[in-house]
Amino acid sequence: MYNPQFEMMDANEMASLQLERLRKTVQKVYDNVAFYREKFDELGISPNDIGSLADITKLPFTKKVDLRNNYPFGLFAVGQEDIVRLHGSSGTSGKPTVVGYTANDVNMWAEVVARSIVAAGGKKTDIFQNTYGYGLFTGGIGLHYGVEALGATVVPMSGGNTDRQITIIEDFKPRGIAGTPSYILNIAEKMRARGIDPRDSSLEYGIFGAEPWSEEMRQKLEEELGLKAVDIYGLSEIIGPGVSIECHEAQDGLHIQEDHFFVEVIDPDTLLPVPDGEEGELVFTSLTKEAFPIIRYRTGDISSITREKCICGRTTTRMSRVKGRTDDMIIIRGVNVFPSEVERVLLQIESLVPHYQIHLVRKQTLDLVELHVEIDDRMYQKIAGDLEHELVVGMKKKIEKLMKTTCLVSMDIVFNVPQTIPRSEGKAIRVVDRRQEQPVTV
Ligand SMILES: [Zn+2]
Repeated sequence: MYNPQFEMMDANEMASLQLERLRKTVQKVYDNVAFYREKFDELGISPNDIGSLADITKLPFTKKVDLRNNYPFGLFAVGQEDIVRLHGSSGTSGKPTVVGYTANDVNMWAEVVARSIVAAGGKKTDIFQNTYGYGLFTGGIGLHYGVEALGATVVPMSGGNTDRQITIIEDFKPRGIAGTPSYILNIAEKMRARGIDPRDSSLEYGIFGAEPWSEEMRQKLEEELGLKAVDIYGLSEIIGPGVSIECHEAQDGLHIQEDHFFVEVIDPDTLLPVPDGEEGELVFTSLTKEAFPIIRYRTGDISSITREKCICGRTTTRMSRVKGRTDDMIIIRGVNVFPSEVERVLLQIESLVPHYQIHLVRKQTLDLVELHVEIDDRMYQKIAGDLEHELVVGMKKKIEKLMKTTCLVSMDIVFNVPQTIPRSEGKAIRVVDRRQEQPVTV
């Protein structure tokens, strides 16, 4: 364990530490961030009203739109002279969001990532290959500083350049790797194409995140690469990766770094807390951040929490794997579908590779779903390249039925020949919206 004092802290002791830090944070935002002061005043609450952790429910929520409305630096609690770094998320709709860090924030972030790497099975003596993208996105640089804080050796590869990634794995012999599940699978596939068995590589553990993934994907990653795959969680609004991490011992829920982040789970409709073990929306409050403290941030991520003891010895609250952000969810004829649910089903089908895309298309006024899947080389040979072969027809029927029963949506399954579905160079593109395409006139 990297920091047992906090990772194994007694629950009561943790609660009093959290309360002390929460009160400080609330006072800080009231004094320094106009957005919060106005909201508190509107609600008639003052920082002195926080006498217990339960009093957090008196405080207002913060949403992504609040970050956009205060773009770029409106929510910062310190002056620009104290900010040492900025990160941000790309704005898929509208303006991007910006977050800032003081030197202490950067150190705290590095510490929680170092804890995460150790939880994943990492050691100070490791070489660690980081394939997360470097840049405004928090993944690359976030992991990077954590590896250094641990005292291990980071190889700052960033995403893409897959041939080079393979050479580095072969020559530098990293024990650990971090990246998106889709990209690491892409690397494994290219290794095989080069005649290298990824299971024979030096890799012993992988830290995977930045896109939603499933238990079935974990099996696939572990089988393909012969490593232990753990899930990391985080978002730039809270700090970046390292808010929580699975331990390699249990791989059963992600330990939240509770001395820095206070978690709540709420019903997204009533906004009231739900009991432990029940699914709801994750809400986080930062407890120690200086530059960009955040109060009750609604993540849009659906999860549940447990405070039960874990076999690894950590005493911190664990959250269940997130199915996907509400942003990733697609609504098809009134039914909510997460790409990770589609993935869970697909990865159970033999003779398919773990690369897929969901295309949304429109025929006349009707929205339809095409699920693009790719058969593996063995099956391709078996059917002699004939996608109308009865084996393919059988698979198609089976997948259609499974999708209908698990995702409650009819999908048109489109089979692709090997190596035709785009491979991920970072974040996989799982959903392609083609509904605005004009029909082709001949
Ligand atoms: Zn554990």
